[in-house]
Amino acid sequence: MGLRIEHVTKTFGAHRAVDGVSFAVEPGQLYGYLGANGAGKTTTFRMILGLLQPTEGTITWNGRPIDDRARKEIGYLPEERGLYPKMTVEDQLIYFAQLRGMTKRGAKQSLAQWLERFDIESYRKKKVEELSKGNQQKVQVLSAVLHEPELLILDEPFSGLDPVNVELLKEAVRDIQKRGAAIVFSSHRMDHAEELCDRLSILTKGKQVVEGTLESIQRADPRRRIRLHTDVPVERLETIEGIERIERVPEGAIFHTMDESLGQMLLREAMKEGTVTHFEVERASLEQIFIEKVGESHA
Ligand code: ATP
Repeated sequence: MGLRIEHVTKTFGAHRAVDGVSFAVEPGQLYGYLGANGAGKTTTFRMILGLLQPTEGTITWNGRPIDDRARKEIGYLPEERGLYPKMTVEDQLIYFAQLRGMTKRGAKQSLAQWLERFDIESYRKKKVEELSKGNQQKVQVLSAVLHEPELLILDEPFSGLDPVNVELLKEAVRDIQKRGAAIVFSSHRMDHAEELCDRLSILTKGKQVVEGTLESIQRADPRRRIRLHTDVPVERLETIEGIERIERVPEGAIFHTMDESLGQMLLREAMKEGTVTHFEVERASLEQIFIEKVGESHA
């Protein structure tokens, strides 16, 4: 069940824009497809939509190649947004929903709910060109979700939205996920990805450098930051082996290490010598992992 991308490659002349990519998205899962600029995200999405043919590999939805019928089950927010500027918000959203198999009545009902939810009810009768860029973006998102797709592909859905609208959209995406849709989204914002996705890929120059659950990806990265708030002078602790770097903070210090067991050691030593008021071991953030992995490939 769900979306399967298997060993997919796309070349443009001598350039491998997508190079041996594989991942799966089950119904009810949110997949983050992350990467540097030009990494191959949009090209992958275009192949899923059938707008481009893979040079190698296969793409299936519920075990079958994606044909015209299956495409109607997909909602797509393309990178280059494409609305009709002279048409009203209502007319074009109903038109798009009908193209994807909804009745006019069904589309109208769904539209009323979504316009309210995205706080653009007052623009219903306005021409798209009269709306701000952010509000046009919301209309475009609506055109991808109105027909309740089983598979939703969102290329940079949060770009151009203010923080309040980002939250509105995150909530909506989570609800669509709860309904059981499979969702793939691309983003340059690692904090959004960290918050939303179940599984993810990080792509650079067409290749996946990281693939898996957020938990497994963070676990596999050996970097740890150990925050210790204590009245013990840091000098007493800094000789412990395995500390890479010490960052002093007013209440104590943050010890950077590649050795997870160092935390317990530091804690024991500090408690022997004085009082500990705070102790925390942090894994590398997705942003740090992204910078390291994508940075390596540019080196
Ligand atoms: P961004 O985050 O900047 O949107 P992306 O990850 O979506 O980037 P793609 O748009 O998929 O990247 O592009 C991947 C690579 O493929 C780029 O080097 C791009 O120049 C190249 N490319 C994309 N489409 C074509 C095309 N039709 N012909 C030739 N090269 C192409």
